[in-house]
Amino acid sequence: MSRQIIHVDMDAFYASVEERENPALRGKPIVVAGKADSRGVVSAANYAARKFGVFSAMPTANAQRLCRDLIILPVRMSLYQEVSRQIHNVFQRYTPHIEPLSLDEAFLDPIGGERLHGNAVSTARQIKDDILAEVKLIASVGVGPNKFIAKLASDCDKPDGFTVVEERNVIEFLNTLALKRIWGVGPSTLRKLNSIGIYTVSELRKASYDYLTRHLGKTGPHLWHLARGQDDRPVKSENHAKSVSHETTFSDNIDDWNRLESVLMQLTESVCARLRKQDLAGRTITIKLRDSSFRTYTVSNTIAIATQSTDAVWGVVQNIIQTHPRRGAPIRLVGVGLSHFDSDDTSQLDVFATGAQAPQSSLDQLTDTVADRFGKFSLRRAKGLLKK
Ligand SMILES: [Mg+2]
Repeated sequence: MSRQIIHVDMDAFYASVEERENPALRGKPIVVAGKADSRGVVSAANYAARKFGVFSAMPTANAQRLCRDLIILPVRMSLYQEVSRQIHNVFQRYTPHIEPLSLDEAFLDPIGGERLHGNAVSTARQIKDDILAEVKLIASVGVGPNKFIAKLASDCDKPDGFTVVEERNVIEFLNTLALKRIWGVGPSTLRKLNSIGIYTVSELRKASYDYLTRHLGKTGPHLWHLARGQDDRPVKSENHAKSVSHETTFSDNIDDWNRLESVLMQLTESVCARLRKQDLAGRTITIKLRDSSFRTYTVSNTIAIATQSTDAVWGVVQNIIQTHPRRGAPIRLVGVGLSHFDSDDTSQLDVFATGAQAPQSSLDQLTDTVADRFGKFSLRRAKGLLKK
């Protein structure tokens, strides 16, 4: 049995919640939006408003011009969060493997639930029905052999969609889509593709791996795979990993802090390599030290932008270590950890285009590649080499 992934996406979420709260609004054009006179923008438009050409991210004033009877409602985020929790309660009855993309969208991997809930398609159907029965809202649902196809499927028959794409129909399905629907094909990539004679998904598929790489760099191989419907990224549940850390215990206490720094560099390299492998990026860097009398000290530092780069993390580690209150003391254990992951994956388009959340340094890429081929630590920073 091949793998199947479910993508659930609520229809016109904020606007539908408002309609549910006030049935008198049904059928009328409504938006949830910031005020027109204070340069507000549309957060969500219901389908009645969309008929007038109103869409989200449009300035509220423009929306009003397009539709004179438009009803403008303020954003009630805590209400939408509450409804989102109810929807997640439904998900959780079917699978623990849930990767939320936003309040109203999530990937689900129903693996392991087959005996209880049937196959992915019947699970997806039950989830859609439960959401309607319990939350009184309509979800569009897609089922496909991977995340890429499932997400495209949920979108292809909105609103109130339910689309299953079987593995054997993937190519046929992709051929019905515009090239810009492929992940990573934004306006500039689209222009580039057009300039090398590629206008459709099937033309993209005919282009060779090398040709795409030559013209599009790193994006080339991604597009080569996607044109074939290939996407092996796992569904990453929120509680999948809360932190990634490595630590080392010494057989003898170490009071040479230069040597300690070398060990910390190695740990930093290991932790960051693991983050990159799991496509995670963290904001909080924690150093753990245990001294000779078994007292443990943890010092954390949180940075503004999540990272998986060895150099970026090492910079923070150095800062912590150079001002550490126990500096110079004999140490028996050190650890480096990253947490506070960016689980909000709404920037997934970019993530997919670049293959990482933060720009990856070429040195990181090189060490990862060498490690994959020749084993861990075949190539490492000189700082991490222990002086004997
Ligand atoms: Mg939605």
